Amino acid sequence: MREIIFRRKPSFRTGRDDDQQSNVPDDMWRKCGGCGDLIYARELERAHHVCPRCSYHFRLSARQRIELLADADSYEPWDESLTTNDPLNFTTGNERYIERARAIAARSDNDANEALSSGRIEIDGRPLVVAATDFSFMGASMGSAYGEKLARACRRAAERGLPVLTISSSGGARMQEGLFSLMQMAKTTAAFDLLRAARLPHFSLLVDPCYGGVTASYAATADIVIAEPGARIGFAGPRVIEQVTRQKLPEGFQTAEFLLDHGLIDQVVPRAEVRATLATLIDLFVPQSLNAQQAAARLVGAGVSSGG
Ligand SMILES: [Zn+2]
Repeated sequence: MREIIFRRKPSFRTGRDDDQQSNVPDDMWRKCGGCGDLIYARELERAHHVCPRCSYHFRLSARQRIELLADADSYEPWDESLTTNDPLNFTTGNERYIERARAIAARSDNDANEALSSGRIEIDGRPLVVAATDFSFMGASMGSAYGEKLARACRRAAERGLPVLTISSSGGARMQEGLFSLMQMAKTTAAFDLLRAARLPHFSLLVDPCYGGVTASYAATADIVIAEPGARIGFAGPRVIEQVTRQKLPEGFQTAEFLLDHGLIDQVVPRAEVRATLATLIDLFVPQSLNAQQAAARLVGAGVSSGG
């Protein structure tokens, strides 16, 4: 009988190992998630990380999102010291949730210690508050720190007379925080009532993929909801819906274009046009003369106490 020798091989090899062998930097080429073509990284950057061949919109970090929209050096980050909380002392196997969150925060390219970065920016000199999620941080799931950052951003915007732009890409609530994460849906939606009381607009930009408790709360209740082309947006994913309803879903279900056709969003905006679209929206919705004092007076007039 012939003896067969099995050699133990690593189950996978990282791109870095391959690149060291071929002496090609691992960030020189990116593979398009749409057409599969390899695109030179510099070319992709110049095109706002949109495939020049098929218009596939690559995922961006919160920092890249903000850099793409904000005037140079206008970003003033807020609440960077707010960090993930672990109210349930949650553990999966040998890994503690809080340690995993800290490790992700340590290697993230964002200043924030959570899946949400917030602060003040300007777009061609127009001030606004931005709150952008980072999908690479635990699927940009919404935990207590995320909710608190967003609530604080809304309050400051209302007090200073600034509109709010949220950029959302999320898997939904942070289940490692249990009920505390679900409460963030109510907390964040209520925080935007402050903005409504001050008669300031909330613009929501939905980017791929946006699901669960984020779509089911503040991201969908904005005054204007726009989305990037091809973004998948919904509550439960299509496979779950097909299993529950036992029906075949229509072509393009849960894409931004499908939602626009069915009246759930207001506009599909290519990435290169988002900045100009927001500038127009701010001009239309925010009175140029509104200052912080007047905004505070609106809050008091609406019976909302300011401060905090
Ligand atoms: Zn492509």
